[in-house]
Amino acid sequence: MMAESTAESNTIFDDAIRRLDSAFSYAEIDPEALEMLKHPKIIIQVSIPVRMDDGSLRVFDGYRVRHDDTCGPGKGGIRYHQDVSLNEVKALAFWMTCKCAVVGLPYGGGKGGIVVNPKELSQLELERLSRGFIRQIADFIGPEVDVPAPDVYTNAMIMGWMMDEYSKIVRKRTPAVITGKPIPLGGSLGRDDATGRGGYYCIKELERIRGWSPDDIRVAIQGFGNAGQHNARLLHADGYKVVAVSDSQGGIYRADGFDIPSLIKTKNESRELKAVYCEGSVCEVVDAESISNEALLELDVDILVPAALENQITKDNAANIKAGIIVELANGPTTAEADAILNRADILVVPDILANAGGVTVSYFEWVQNKAGYYWPLEEVHTKLKTIMSREFNAVYDLMKKHRIDMRTAAYAKALKRIGEAISAQGTKQFFDNNH
Ligand code: GLU
Repeated sequence: MMAESTAESNTIFDDAIRRLDSAFSYAEIDPEALEMLKHPKIIIQVSIPVRMDDGSLRVFDGYRVRHDDTCGPGKGGIRYHQDVSLNEVKALAFWMTCKCAVVGLPYGGGKGGIVVNPKELSQLELERLSRGFIRQIADFIGPEVDVPAPDVYTNAMIMGWMMDEYSKIVRKRTPAVITGKPIPLGGSLGRDDATGRGGYYCIKELERIRGWSPDDIRVAIQGFGNAGQHNARLLHADGYKVVAVSDSQGGIYRADGFDIPSLIKTKNESRELKAVYCEGSVCEVVDAESISNEALLELDVDILVPAALENQITKDNAANIKAGIIVELANGPTTAEADAILNRADILVVPDILANAGGVTVSYFEWVQNKAGYYWPLEEVHTKLKTIMSREFNAVYDLMKKHRIDMRTAAYAKALKRIGEAISAQGTKQFFDNNH
């Protein structure tokens, strides 16, 4: 019994919701609202049988969790990864609720996941799996119910298949059921780089506040997927020195910084991260050190950007972090125990629920465009994203200064206040007491 309850109290979901308790006293909301947010609204577990190319049958496990829908439909990505678990999906759904609330989107939070290593599947197997998943969860999603999107190892093509499958089930074309679609199928311009760009706008606000010059700033980025690549590209274009990047196989370090467009080109063509400099199609190898993902986190840099998976900065390595600023493009890269260590060391952590909110913000733009049937030019997407990210970054930053708290607590306090007010408006004990 004892062992079971200990294991239970250590789940990633429990670690995630513990953040609410520290933010609660700054949010001025009813305790009943806090209690509501500790329990996901809907948890769905499905089995997805897939006929593989060799004729055999494999059955995959999938999940969709709608954590909350007080402020609007559930919203959040679908992840394909061999380590997906229900607890992880619950935590990711909870973070989506808080993320949407921090930047003021009319959404709750949701997340989905399939236990699969997508690199082992052919494209046709992936399509059958994706369509099969939608058939299983179709009753629980919809433009006004819960709106999925891409996440780790899912992409625009997969979103297109999912939208198509859902549209067939409901017998009408329904682009607003899912975001992050290919542009010709109703996707929004600017959704592809939105997560990295949102984090970049946060760094630009810090640049304004601290008054540094980009070429003095060294950046290390863990994870060279969608978020990491675009963030690196935008920072590099502004003169920032991106001195280290990594993917799931390991990383590379170069004190002078990398030519990021060359790295992106080779990674996307060869699927390998190589220290190269390219002129046109001719690439030559440049001097660089190979480093592990763990070593990258501990580099002597100014800004560290975790852009891969959760639980990377823990109580075991937090004391070794040398960066003065951490910008969390991944969801949940820092554990609660690590946070305490980072705060004591005066490291500024721009928390995931703010730093990586650019993705869901442009997903919101896509949903709005789908519903209106009217599509915006790229500049409009960029301007609107910049307005939201800069405004909400500064609101959280000011709250942090006002209460002398860390930025994560400030972000949660802001999120809690917004959701708490919506929950209270539906009627809590205090609400009824006051109205009698
Ligand atoms: N998967 C992304 C996230 O974690 C995007 C979610 C969305 O666009 O709905 O924020």
